[in-house]
Amino acid sequence: MRQDPIEVVTDKCVACGACIKACPFDAIEMKDDLAVIDLTKCTLCGACVATCKFDAIDMREKAPAAAEDLATYRDVWVFAEQSDGRIHTITYELLGEGRKLADDLGMELCAVLLGSGIAGCVPELVDRGADKVYVADHPGLEHYLDEPYSAVLTDLIRKHKPCIFLCGATNVGRSMVSRVAVPALAGLTADCTGLSIDPETKNLLQTRPAFGGNIMATIISPNNRPQMATVRHKVMKEAEVTKGRSGKTVEVEIAEAILKCRTKRLRFDPDQDTTVSITEADIIVSGGRGLQKPENFALLREFAEVIGAGIGASRATVDAGWIPYSHQVGQTGKTVSPKLYIACGISGQIQHLAGMSSADIIVAINRDADAPIFKVATYGIVGDATAIVPMLTKEFRKILAS
Ligand SMILES: Cc1cc2nc3c(=O)[nH]c(=O)nc-3n(C[C@H](O)[C@H](O)[C@H](O)COP(=O)(O)OP(=O)(O)OC[C@H]3O[C@@H](n4cnc5c(N)ncnc54)[C@H](O)[C@@H]3O)c2cc1C
Repeated sequence: MRQDPIEVVTDKCVACGACIKACPFDAIEMKDDLAVIDLTKCTLCGACVATCKFDAIDMREKAPAAAEDLATYRDVWVFAEQSDGRIHTITYELLGEGRKLADDLGMELCAVLLGSGIAGCVPELVDRGADKVYVADHPGLEHYLDEPYSAVLTDLIRKHKPCIFLCGATNVGRSMVSRVAVPALAGLTADCTGLSIDPETKNLLQTRPAFGGNIMATIISPNNRPQMATVRHKVMKEAEVTKGRSGKTVEVEIAEAILKCRTKRLRFDPDQDTTVSITEADIIVSGGRGLQKPENFALLREFAEVIGAGIGASRATVDAGWIPYSHQVGQTGKTVSPKLYIACGISGQIQHLAGMSSADIIVAINRDADAPIFKVATYGIVGDATAIVPMLTKEFRKILAS
């Protein structure tokens, strides 16, 4: 059996209470003159260990689990991210990929849905391939908040022991999943672009770019379960819809205590930007430092409006304050996979390519015929982007009007 990662050494604890004050997560209480750690709240930050003068708290290195223990972990779980009852499309990509993994392992594919009044989302998840949907429906889960969401998931993982847990590398997923991986004692690979099952060991092979996209690293977690990974949006194919599939629903019982939260949602301020979201756009017109000055993004906006495109940007322009970060494409920005990507005055450094090279068609406009962007471009135009973009706008306006 696996040991807890942190424990109170009963014959050393003198019930001084120092650890209770030191714990930033309110995870320790005194019971019968002994400190007791609540593992659903503990994040293994180690503050209590450092504070205890009596060496009465023992935090262990995680020991590899025995093979028979690993075998008790079953099924492939997908976190079904939703907001106001609308399922994030990354969930469909995860269900598509999860289906293949579950079939390779001979296991079930399960979705885990958290929220309030979300029963209406269940059929969609089943139609996209979920064999079972765990539904945690509670007013305390209406909006995403780190603490209750990660506590409910951790509790579910401890009870049901999934073999694999997949989550979108979205703002929510990134914020939540590390808080689940630590107390669940799981390995976690962030930002995967490829997942498969090793046919011999049955371990999950988690592939992601490393060293600035120069190599693809394949990571395994052979000694512990669940194997957890976040996956970048728009990298994998969405699961197809099969209307009328049947699947099981498991209503999750939630103890009020685990919904305790130190943060509160005050309001939601939607992005004022009215341009098409680049993660959803089929066409993206993207600008780099070659646009010369921030005002020239107006040329891209006009072009984008005519052809119904979203507006992307290189990090250089974002760092210079020419355009907000939400438009940045690349390794430290968004990954996009449009049908058409038009790069205007972008050099094509590896960190930019990491976010857009899977576009079906890439058109590059650059003054320098040797710019690296031309190596990945389907079509290239050598010239001044600030002159070429208005010409394209004019021609497309004419063609589309007719
Ligand atoms: C850890 C790390 C993470 C990073 N993450 C990202 C990321 O997510 N996204 C990203 O984009 N970058 C990222 N970068 C930065 C990246 O390395 C480049 O510096 C950046 O992409 C360059 O932006 P740019 O192409 O707009 O500018 P430049 O490299 O300055 O290129 C400008 C290009 O415009 C051309 N040009 C100049 N004038 C004109 C004109 N009038 N018409 C047409 N072409 C013209 C030039 O020939 C040149 O090719 C990252 C860097 C690091 C170290």
